[in-house]
Amino acid sequence: MPELIAAAKPIIGDEERQAVDRVMRSGMIAQGPEVAAFEVEFGAQLAGGRTSVAVNSGTAGLHLGLLAAGIGPGDEVIVPSFTFAATGNSVALTGATPVFADIELDTYSLDPAAVESAITPRTRAIMPVHLYGHPARMRELRTLADTHGLMLFEDAAQAHGASLDGALVGTFGTFAMFSLYPTKNMTSGEGGMVVVEREELARAVKLLRNQGMERQYANEVIGFNARMTDIHAAIGRVQLKKVGAWTARRQANAARLDRDLRGVRTPVVADGASHVYHQYTIRVDDDRDGFSRALKDEHGIGNGVYYPIPNHRLDSLAKFASGLDLPNTETAASTVVSLPVHPSLDEADLDRIVSAVNALARAGA
Ligand SMILES: *Cc1c(COP(=O)(O)O)cnc(C)c1O
Repeated sequence: MPELIAAAKPIIGDEERQAVDRVMRSGMIAQGPEVAAFEVEFGAQLAGGRTSVAVNSGTAGLHLGLLAAGIGPGDEVIVPSFTFAATGNSVALTGATPVFADIELDTYSLDPAAVESAITPRTRAIMPVHLYGHPARMRELRTLADTHGLMLFEDAAQAHGASLDGALVGTFGTFAMFSLYPTKNMTSGEGGMVVVEREELARAVKLLRNQGMERQYANEVIGFNARMTDIHAAIGRVQLKKVGAWTARRQANAARLDRDLRGVRTPVVADGASHVYHQYTIRVDDDRDGFSRALKDEHGIGNGVYYPIPNHRLDSLAKFASGLDLPNTETAASTVVSLPVHPSLDEADLDRIVSAVNALARAGA
């Protein structure tokens, strides 16, 4: 068996190690100056200068962003079902109801027509996911939100640097969340960044992440401990300098796969969109699970299925979705496979991925 090509691979170098060491030696390791600097640098580079607030996970970022925007019991937030459970969970954790709408099969993001049909008098917001690093249909969703007086939020966990008509994701919504988990396009170890449209939201998220305090022991609201540490922020600051070059590598790897793969459906990039290929996701209509297994076990090519069970059919979230029928979501869940596209791949790895996928697609045809 050839050596396994990993499905995903965080890149941690000497600079990250030195940054951690610098913080450890400073004696100040909890949230402090590194977090403050990371927030400013992240906002400037990846959020069009919007104010950014660092938290200890992407999930906490969604949860706190929703709470800061005033989402709570009795409210409905329209979300895709074809996403990681954190999207639906974060809405449910506020006491609001996640209302699952179907996706489009070309870009796997919320279908504006399905969103429109899901609007009720209780709907307060729409929260698309820029899945796999491809921007959701923000123009149409913005129009819908404005027409119906709703807020627009962004789950940008997978989409650092993605853009639509030149505008970065994260700059469309009332707030957006970027995850900094190790397999995402950049990492701080664990972490999340909430970027906000208005300063009062930044203050609300900051209060919620720190027990409701701005001044020590003057707790204004009931809050969490969702602080990022300076150790994690120091890693994130180094990664921020590298993520642009890594994204270019992901895009070059994707272009190579687009050019040479045969017999499978390769990713679609919408007009005006810049895709950052958190995942390079193909569709295999026949026996996807067998394809995924053979790719790994016979050809040594790591791959992943994101996501085999949509949110609305998870035991945890199904109570919000009785009788719901989401045909495109079901098709995607049963046919998608994500191939390695990460920046550490070399030409030989890409050659192996192309020949293995093409051989399996021919065998299945
Ligand atoms: C990773 C991810 C999250 C959650 O981020 P964490 O940092 O892992 O908490 C939320 N939504 C999507 C779509 C994700 O991929």
